[in-house]
Amino acid sequence: MIDAQSLTRRYGEFTAVDGISFTVDEGEIVGMLGPNGAGKTTTLRMITGFLPPTDGHLTVGGRDLFSDPVAARREVGYLPENVALYPEMRVAEYLRYRAMLEGLPRAKARPRISETVKSCFLEEVENQIIGTLSKGYRQRVGLAAAILHHPSVLVLDEPTVGLDPKQIIAIRELIRELGHKQTLLLSSHILPEVELLCDRVIIIDRGRIVAEGSPRDLQDSWVGNTILRVELKDDPGEAPEVLAAIPGVVGIVSGDTGCYRLECSTNTDPRQSVFEAAKERDWVLLELAHEQASLEDIFVRLTTQEPVPSSGRGELGDASQEEVPS
Ligand code: ATP
Repeated sequence: MIDAQSLTRRYGEFTAVDGISFTVDEGEIVGMLGPNGAGKTTTLRMITGFLPPTDGHLTVGGRDLFSDPVAARREVGYLPENVALYPEMRVAEYLRYRAMLEGLPRAKARPRISETVKSCFLEEVENQIIGTLSKGYRQRVGLAAAILHHPSVLVLDEPTVGLDPKQIIAIRELIRELGHKQTLLLSSHILPEVELLCDRVIIIDRGRIVAEGSPRDLQDSWVGNTILRVELKDDPGEAPEVLAAIPGVVGIVSGDTGCYRLECSTNTDPRQSVFEAAKERDWVLLELAHEQASLEDIFVRLTTQEPVPSSGRGELGDASQEEVPS
């Protein structure tokens, strides 16, 4: 359904997407995961025809995006990160407008809009002005507009960003339902979201794919080292430094206040040393246990977190703007 080969996008001297290749098969839900600036949005915008690739080959729904761009774009429904919705329009009016843009004849558009309003749970706001809707409802309108023309591929960029927990649950349910009917590629940096929704995950960092597989496969790929969970009361400030220096500890894969996940080399069991270090410093040890590597551990291990230097980039200046459907 999506076949990207050596897909590249450069902004001046800066390479945002660096020759990535991947496929998304029919009926699959694939999550693109990566830290800020990894190249997720750039990749999605190329797939949806909003941004021309600098290099590579790309087919969507069997249509070549280079030689047959209009047909290829018809195959795709796109919910951009910052969706532009015409706040002065009413929901139904906006959907009629989008149906017209998609070339749906009036007779076909009417039942299609009713069906979409229903499937996106928009009935109660159908006649409301978009500008007065909550962010969650606006996101649903964006989704409705994206699926209105029955695209074979649905591309969602950070679909739950900025929503409250209740709205997140509702949008996730909707996405899961849509995923039964359509091929779906979504980007996120919320790991549990990707774990919950996706059959397969593509981890991207600095424009390159660093891992790919089902969440389960990725977890199983964590071979060799083990994870030790350490929980301390009142999080002593020196804890990261002390724990990282314990023999057998390779590094700290994640740490919230008082909770540390230590990566330990195979055949070592630093539990006793951790206990002794805590005792020596009067730390209160609340938990000390081995754990299975999580998708988050894999993510942290594979992706670099330092900011990308901004020098040498082209000044195209279209990265953060709202995307108006064309
Ligand atoms: P986030 O999770 O923060 O949305 P992302 O993975 O979607 O990040 P992109 O938006 O694809 O990342 O950006 C990839 C890189 O390309 C970033 O370093 C970004 O600053 C750069 N970039 C994006 N658009 C432009 C542009 N128009 N001109 C110059 N650089 C750009």
